[in-house]
Amino acid sequence: MQAGLIRPSATIREDRPFELLGLAPSELRDYFQSMGEKGFHGDQLYRAIYSRRLFSFDRLTEFSLQLRQALSRTASITLPELETAQRSVDGTTKYLLRLSDGQRIEAVFIPEPSRNTLCLSTQVGCPMDCRFCLTALLGFSRNLTAAEIVGQILFVQANQDKGETGRASSERSKPLNIVLMGMGEPLLNLENVVKALQLMSDGDGLAIPVHRITLSTVGLVPKIRELAQAPVIPNLAISLSATTDEIRSRLMPVNRKYPIQALLSACSDFPLPRKARLTFEYVLIDGINDTDQDARRLVRLLSGLRSKVNLLPLNLGEQGVWRPSPPQRIVTFQKILRSKGLPAFIRRPRGADIYAACGQLHRAQAARNTA
Ligand code: SAH
Repeated sequence: MQAGLIRPSATIREDRPFELLGLAPSELRDYFQSMGEKGFHGDQLYRAIYSRRLFSFDRLTEFSLQLRQALSRTASITLPELETAQRSVDGTTKYLLRLSDGQRIEAVFIPEPSRNTLCLSTQVGCPMDCRFCLTALLGFSRNLTAAEIVGQILFVQANQDKGETGRASSERSKPLNIVLMGMGEPLLNLENVVKALQLMSDGDGLAIPVHRITLSTVGLVPKIRELAQAPVIPNLAISLSATTDEIRSRLMPVNRKYPIQALLSACSDFPLPRKARLTFEYVLIDGINDTDQDARRLVRLLSGLRSKVNLLPLNLGEQGVWRPSPPQRIVTFQKILRSKGLPAFIRRPRGADIYAACGQLHRAQAARNTA
């Protein structure tokens, strides 16, 4: 992280507290120095926020009373606020969170037997307009800041801990997977996403091992290449969902700009750790992209890549013309992939009863005419 990003005269305004969440240690050091204090307080504050999860200056007893008061006057540590939390029969919890400008996003906590998964948003709304996704109906409002991305983790974990009282504390000790698969296209917000990835994976930060973090994209080719150069490289998931450009362009307008071959070529250049695989997500829509021929084409397309496929039965909005592929079709599709040596998994929708499943994050019920 570059030092000297903070120019006090330009960024610190008297009328609004200066946001300290989301800053790198070097930026926090700069902040303290701009107050005429010792830079190492920045490192102390960084560990207080991310390791000790302290979000109030009053509780930073390692700082003098005078320094705590000065911080309270000039700065803030702002987590998203809870608007509603809904719990599914399967234990999945969907949080509707309010940001400081009143915009709202969703984060989904998915408990599983051997791990927990937290699905984060990276934008308010989304401009990609995938025809099967409800988030698309919101249109695009803005990118989330790095603070708002990691803020979702800090908020949800604090909330889960509160709910834990009385319940087995084993939930807390399970490993946590992070998936950037909520609202938005993470690669359209690459700078803030990379900054958030650094805070997540840093040992003095949230200390989430990078192999437990997955970024999912519609397939923005130049941005995939840019991510490959980032200081922190997460697992990559690609939403493919079709095996011909004709069908894919119909489902995902982005394909007109970056067709399948260009996308797969960027994927084959993506640096993969030993034994790791790229994930291809494939939303199965009855009669649209789910034939035996599609399955065989998918095997051919992915043949040169170390990859695995997650099959997602289409989750529905309230209405819509398209239907998920029937269970037997999905099993047959999976069998064809597996018979050719391509690992394929059927993803059970989680939290579908509360509209928390993939493609259902849209704050309010809305229908999409998928014709
Ligand atoms: N913009 C990113 C991340 C958000 S979508 C991306 O597109 O990858 C996360 C996943 O949900 C994607 O794989 C997407 O294909 C899937 N998805 C979207 N709408 C869906 C729906 N209605 N049913 C099932 N999966 C859906």
